[in-house]
Amino acid sequence: MTERTRSVAVLALSAVLFVVVLVIGPGSEMAALRRILGLGNDPLGRPADVPPGGVHAFLEHQPGRPDEPVTWDPCREIRYEVNPDQAPDDADETVAFVRDAVEEVAAVTGLTFSYEGLSDRRPDPQGDVLLTARPDPVLVAWADDDEVDELDGDVAGVGGATARSYDGDAWLWFVTGGVTLDVQAFDRLADGPDGLAERRAILLHELGHVVGLGHVDSPAELMYADSVGQREFGLGDLNGLAALGRGRCR
Ligand SMILES: [Zn+2]
Repeated sequence: MTERTRSVAVLALSAVLFVVVLVIGPGSEMAALRRILGLGNDPLGRPADVPPGGVHAFLEHQPGRPDEPVTWDPCREIRYEVNPDQAPDDADETVAFVRDAVEEVAAVTGLTFSYEGLSDRRPDPQGDVLLTARPDPVLVAWADDDEVDELDGDVAGVGGATARSYDGDAWLWFVTGGVTLDVQAFDRLADGPDGLAERRAILLHELGHVVGLGHVDSPAELMYADSVGQREFGLGDLNGLAALGRGRCR
């Protein structure tokens, strides 16, 4: 058999397997066959089981589908990096602080995060998360309101993510994001008795935005817009986070 005829035979075999995939349809067989064929993969993790309850909202919906949130691709790692400049603690403590909060979001959503290291990137002055040709990792950084306008007043942090679609399909996935924490607010909280817990709650709230949660009206949820003493994700937050971990794979 020459190389050419062999490759034709392989192509023919692929075509047969592809037909089998289409006939079997969605489900675990589909996922297993796709994996064997190298056509895709399964979600890297599983969202936590949480009892129903509370209220949650999504940051963004799929175009024309109000019930379908925009999510990250659960089959791919979410890369993130930390710029510890102006944070109240040293670089090692700052990275540990961020990683601890990210791990909590990862545990609830089932999304997998990959820490890419320290960065000297700065947040966008308008608080936007810009989409570049190869999307940047999520950036966690500290800034003041001279640098980032949105931190003006008593805003303790801003967070969000930017979505894109692929190949003419209208479906959107978040592909990059950012959290910018307010230098003055964090310095102030560095001295208070409950300061660390409150700083952590602010970061968790902003990471909630990064994975796709919006604000809700209930002060029992961490995604309430104001910091009113809630330190951990509430029941509605947890349900929203778990839902955001069940997005489509690309
Ligand atoms: Zn918020």
